Amino acid sequence: MVPQLEELIRDSSNIVFFGGAGVSTESGIPDFRSVDGLYHQKFDYPPEVMLSHSFFMSHTEEFFRFYREKLIVHGAKPNAAHLRLAALEREGKLKAVVTQNIDGLHQAAGSRCVYELHGSTLRNFCMKCGKSYDIDFIDQSQGIPRCTECGGIVKPDVVLYEEGLDPATLDGAVRAIQAADLLIVGGTSLAVYPAAGLLQYFRGRNLVVINKQPTPADRMASLVLNMPIGRALSADSE
Ligand code: NAD
Repeated sequence: MVPQLEELIRDSSNIVFFGGAGVSTESGIPDFRSVDGLYHQKFDYPPEVMLSHSFFMSHTEEFFRFYREKLIVHGAKPNAAHLRLAALEREGKLKAVVTQNIDGLHQAAGSRCVYELHGSTLRNFCMKCGKSYDIDFIDQSQGIPRCTECGGIVKPDVVLYEEGLDPATLDGAVRAIQAADLLIVGGTSLAVYPAAGLLQYFRGRNLVVINKQPTPADRMASLVLNMPIGRALSADSE
């Protein structure tokens, strides 16, 4: 626990959390840009190419190979950061989690108001008839997953690079950030736009950044914590 952070949490009544892949690394899911993140593993293309709309359209089978191997995660559980954020929501202090993550771990921890800017691997739908499928369907299919009803390609409900964000999700996230008195930004390099641009809507009193590496938001922050987010958000004293 970090006393300065706990003080800010105590004095705030409308907290919003804005996070990214670093929130889930302590659950065993690699991020993109840390030294042991996906960028530093060996693939023919960088993740941002393999997770782009044009790559999906032109190299569909290869997309699903990468997707099954790297983005479908088995057995990951919410960590101390997810659990504390869910607890703060139950206490009525935290009003929303805005996440760039696609792993569903905030909801698994018990968070209810979650704006998933980049969608979720847990939802998948047929591009032709719209029939929905769970994550196991994608995981257990071979090659390109096909709809059992119409044969269309089943696409993860994940926002690929070059694709736009869902307007309703974006709108909800902007409203939550605008209304916040404390914005906690954590586990994100703030390198992915338009998601990172949402910070400009914050008008509240205190911005806290919890990230292992420096971020562009550090200079606007009341408090910057360069430490593991699970440790920073843990309510227990060590
Ligand atoms: P990023 O990889 O660009 O940045 C992650 C940041 O988190 C880094 O700056 C790193 O220093 C920091 N970090 C890593 N572990 C941390 C920890 N335990 N405590 C504190 N900080 C930690 O991630 P991004 O900004 O979210 O952007 C990448 C894009 O890829 C996003 O769209 C994201 O949703 C997606 N992605 C999602 C997942 C997931 O759903 N878990 C995983 C990988 C990538």
